[in-house]
Amino acid sequence: MSIDSHSYQQQALDCLQSTFGYTQFRSHQIEVIEDVMQGADCFVLMPTGGGKSLCYQIPALLREGTAIVVSPLISLMQDQVNALKANGVQAAYYNSTLGLEEANQVLMQLHTGQLDLLYVAPERLLNQDFVQQLQSLPISLFAIDEAHCISQWGHDFRPEYSRIGQLRHVFAQVSFIALTATADAATREDIVHRLALQSPKVHVSGFDRPNIRYTVLEKRQPFKQLVDFLDQRNAAEESGVVYCLSRKRVEEVALQLQQKGYRAQAYHAGLPAEIRHKVHQQFIRDEVAIVVATVAFGMGIDKPNVRFVVHYDLPKNIEGYYQETGRAGRDGLASEALLLYGAQDVVTARHFIEQVANEDQKRIESFKLASMVEFAEAQTCRRSVLLNYFGDPMHHACGNCDVCLNPPVLFDGKVVAQKALSCVYRLQQGFGMSYAIEVLRGADNERIRQLGHQQLSTYGIGKEFSVAEWQSIFRQLIHRGYLMQDIRNYSVLKLTASSGDVLKGKVELQLAKPRVKSTKSAGQGRA
Ligand code: ADP
Ligand code: ZN
Repeated sequence: MSIDSHSYQQQALDCLQSTFGYTQFRSHQIEVIEDVMQGADCFVLMPTGGGKSLCYQIPALLREGTAIVVSPLISLMQDQVNALKANGVQAAYYNSTLGLEEANQVLMQLHTGQLDLLYVAPERLLNQDFVQQLQSLPISLFAIDEAHCISQWGHDFRPEYSRIGQLRHVFAQVSFIALTATADAATREDIVHRLALQSPKVHVSGFDRPNIRYTVLEKRQPFKQLVDFLDQRNAAEESGVVYCLSRKRVEEVALQLQQKGYRAQAYHAGLPAEIRHKVHQQFIRDEVAIVVATVAFGMGIDKPNVRFVVHYDLPKNIEGYYQETGRAGRDGLASEALLLYGAQDVVTARHFIEQVANEDQKRIESFKLASMVEFAEAQTCRRSVLLNYFGDPMHHACGNCDVCLNPPVLFDGKVVAQKALSCVYRLQQGFGMSYAIEVLRGADNERIRQLGHQQLSTYGIGKEFSVAEWQSIFRQLIHRGYLMQDIRNYSVLKLTASSGDVLKGKVELQLAKPRVKSTKSAGQGRA
């Protein structure tokens, strides 16, 4: 077969314009289409709204036969088919919502070659009879939408997806295209493996959101930090979302904001449906400025002018974080994503992971949490860390994140770390961070006197740093695994297996200079 890339491109562009009414392709769409047209397997990773559908819809129209699109969500399937029909495309869906007669009607259309695209629910493909029928028909391609559903590494594993992999062998000559919006490297590999894709062409694009400024602040007094951030942004008239991990916190923060005069409302899955609906509507109509929410708030927010997204607590993984921050700035205007990052949140998250019974799941979640922590602690451009995680690497610093705008100053942290760790040791690993800092700074108070801790060799050896600076140092040591907080016991500080190396001076330790006026970077240079 002679492959004429130019003519494929021309055909695809004609189809885009005549059928879909768009003037040009977005980045990567044409490359994917070309690969599919040439019969290759493809793996397409683009964020939601990136334009994945056209990557298989156009080849489906240009190639002989019917394209089979596997899609897990019945409502999306219907929307897609309706939209295609409105553009004059012959498309149908085949899922459990159809009555017997409708189902037969669809099969008839399929068998008589009247369909360019057939959307099917994954469980239909578990039916041998249906698969055999497909084998006797000209199939132009298989598109597996939401392909992460096949992997336990993804966030939405669906057992009915797991047998789709066998199809690749049954339809050896047909190209398969897997599409998803969310996948770290491990999930990607797993999808390719489970779908048995053959030397797939991998297309990753569209993850960068250059208008969003990422900032991570050490969480100290979160509510005050939130209000400072809002004040600096002059946020009274702006739309934004504040994500918290628990319903209780959502309600607290929403109430506190209301008391400060912000037009804020709470949103979480525990509220009655009509309240949730109302808050959603009010937000869309700009009647509510700030929604304080759990991750339940998200599906279906398609509001262009969300100016900021704040994570009040540490998200469980980068996929979630990125999806949530991605709700800011859909209109392309400058927007901000602020993450309040506290060591305690990591401890809590680890604690939850420990409770997970399934060992695989535990391993996966720990890995994802570790990546999240690495992001929060990154001393390099935030955007490069994020894009690299999604396999869409960026090779320059972005100039629009806190690290780029205000690079951390590193210093040799060996001595200071030794002071901190030996203080914890002298306190017999029985006290929390605030108390250890009081001892280091030589505080003169009742409790210290009562416990006789002014006698300790580490008493008053850390006067060169303020309380806030010491907090930052302790947190860095915790994040690096040289100290831990015992969540079951009042967050008492404990040494870890690696603490000895620091105490013996066996490791080089670069710490970031504490940024005490750390709210500065968040509001600075608002574009
Ligand atoms: P995804 O499946 O990646 O979430 P969709 O395929 O649903 O995204 O596309 C998102 C939106 O972008 C849709 O409204 C679609 O019509 C539109 N779109 C896709 N490609 C183009 C294009 N080349 N030009 C203009 N609009 C496009
Ligand atoms: Zn950057």
